[in-house]
Amino acid sequence: MTRALFEAAYEAARTLVAATPALAEFAPWPSDAAFVDRPANLLPASGSVAAWKNGDTPQTAALHDAVCAVALVADWRQTYTEAEVGAHFLANYGYFELVGPLGHFHAEGYRAYVAYWGAGLHYPWHMHEAEELYFVIAGGARFEAEGTPPAILGPGDTCRHASNQPHTMTTADAPILTLVLWRGSGLSGLPRMGRA
Ligand code: ZN
Repeated sequence: MTRALFEAAYEAARTLVAATPALAEFAPWPSDAAFVDRPANLLPASGSVAAWKNGDTPQTAALHDAVCAVALVADWRQTYTEAEVGAHFLANYGYFELVGPLGHFHAEGYRAYVAYWGAGLHYPWHMHEAEELYFVIAGGARFEAEGTPPAILGPGDTCRHASNQPHTMTTADAPILTLVLWRGSGLSGLPRMGRA
């Protein structure tokens, strides 16, 4: 039963990537990803994702619905500590790895995360070695990266970060649900706070 929910989420993400040139050209979807039976790890944000059914568009609705359906059985994680981002941030943020080395579907050389931030949240400046592509599934936020003009992004929009390009994100009155793709070297690394 749980496996069927994850397979639906995988298929919705794969279909969306194939139909969206900005995603498809960033990195080819892995052809050999295999389902891994991971225990659920729930966070306060898990319930927020399961309950938040609006903010999407016809292009993103299928993936949004599929993410809602796995939100209470997914292996949610956080990479930051309370000292770095504060308790309020940790209560309103989380991600799970849909595809990747530690994902619900195992693949090497590629990572696809589903990540969520609640309304009124500031995600401080951070950076990482892997190249990154954000795709907004639902809601929106203000994205800013060093050397790039700030942009307000909504469902269907993408934002790309180069290797070690510092970036930050701020939500307003709506949460944001995203599909985040990583490629390149540093794939197993984690983001670090700061802009240098
Ligand atoms: Zn990033």
